[in-house]
Amino acid sequence: MMVKEAVISNEGGSGNVIFIAPKMAAFVAEQSRPSSPFIHMIKGGRETQLFIPNGSRLYTVTEEVEKRVSYLMKTRDEVSLQEELVRLGLAAPEYIDDVPLQSPRLYALSLAIAQKCNMGCTYCYADQGSFGGATKNMSLETAYEAIDLLLKDCPEGEKVQLTFLGGEPLMNRKAIVSATEYAVAKARHRNIQVNFSITTNGTLLTEADAVFFEEYGFAVTVSLDGVGESHDSQRPMKGGKGSFDTILKNLRPLLAMQKRMQVSARVTVTPKNLNLPGMLDEFVRMGFHSIGFSPLLRSPNGQNEMGKEDLSVLLENMIACGLNFEKNVLAGNRYPFLNMINALQEISKGTHRPYPCGAGAGYMGVSADAELFACHRFVNEEVGKMGDLKNGIDTTVQNNWLSSRHVHKQNPCTECWARYLCGGGCHHEVIEKGRLACDYIRSWLYYTIQANERLSRLKPDWNL
Ligand code: SF4
Ligand code: SF4
Repeated sequence: MMVKEAVISNEGGSGNVIFIAPKMAAFVAEQSRPSSPFIHMIKGGRETQLFIPNGSRLYTVTEEVEKRVSYLMKTRDEVSLQEELVRLGLAAPEYIDDVPLQSPRLYALSLAIAQKCNMGCTYCYADQGSFGGATKNMSLETAYEAIDLLLKDCPEGEKVQLTFLGGEPLMNRKAIVSATEYAVAKARHRNIQVNFSITTNGTLLTEADAVFFEEYGFAVTVSLDGVGESHDSQRPMKGGKGSFDTILKNLRPLLAMQKRMQVSARVTVTPKNLNLPGMLDEFVRMGFHSIGFSPLLRSPNGQNEMGKEDLSVLLENMIACGLNFEKNVLAGNRYPFLNMINALQEISKGTHRPYPCGAGAGYMGVSADAELFACHRFVNEEVGKMGDLKNGIDTTVQNNWLSSRHVHKQNPCTECWARYLCGGGCHHEVIEKGRLACDYIRSWLYYTIQANERLSRLKPDWNL
């Protein structure tokens, strides 16, 4: 089993990684295939680990146990597998039952503060910012009402999250400033902390924005799909001109200023920008707080969506980035690869959840027309509508959503070993396109569980 030897050292340069990643991806893709819903074996570390989905628990096992469990998994003998868990003392009551969440408290809202954009990205989920309707700004009155709703049921001393999205949110800069000041003033009375974030295309950022974001401690996410031409081909301005140079110039004061503010890069990965390790290195060098990759599985016009083969190439590239992350951690360097950090955090916490995210639960998106949706991607889509600011959240609709979206109701998630780490996949993508990325999701989780074992063994004092 060649990958068992793939202990990552901090020597040898990135050539090593380029050599190892495709082999590791092939191994991981093979080994992560679903076999039993009760148990999965994670091989490739010094010792094999048993992953138990119920509670997302991990245990190392002897070769003898590995052999026995492998045999039972191969023969699909689920009854004996369950008996084996009892024998090993690893059986436990169900951590997650079938009962859905019921009208949970709202803790996060995103405001589509400008449903318009100055760019013409080839794959935009928001139809170049307008969400399939007329272009418009959110009024201040709507923004204030949304903030009132967010704070209404928040207990004293707690935190809420307010996010500004578009289109391009900075096309309605005045409303961002006023809404931020309003939220802080209102929350202060009740000792509530408001955390702010914004996702921007970066083309309109100014030095004054940097000062403002720093003052209020914004998490600023900038959409960048590569370096230079690679970015420009996916994210041109409306007239077709490139945007990378402008963004880079605009970003300098923000990157230099980060104290309370954090500036991160978010890369939408399509079949055209799959060379991720070089891009990640470059963005780390530029000084981003973190860098995250997100594959494009669905675009309104079908352009640039990732197919099955592209997802295999993505896996190789993500693993190459992950191996670089491991090498840097071992060498004591900062290497803020967000997908890896998030996955390692979930694995070490033993995250087990019945939903993939907070959409339609504690998190909702508000449209410029003051309507509520399950999340920002559902804005103006009937399937995700959850009420409006005038009448509040429609709790019947919300609770039906939470009942139907529970991972125990998703097919084939109930049979999948990764179900409580994954939660059933992004609702929006699944509703629109089905579950096309499951092999990729499981493979990536498999690799990160391996990496977690390596890092805990080779750098026990390292923490996230
Ligand atoms: S969506 Fe997630 S939980 Fe469901 S089958 Fe796919 S990988 Fe497994
Ligand atoms: S449904 Fe999808 S896009 Fe919306 S918050 Fe969840 S993961 Fe994100």
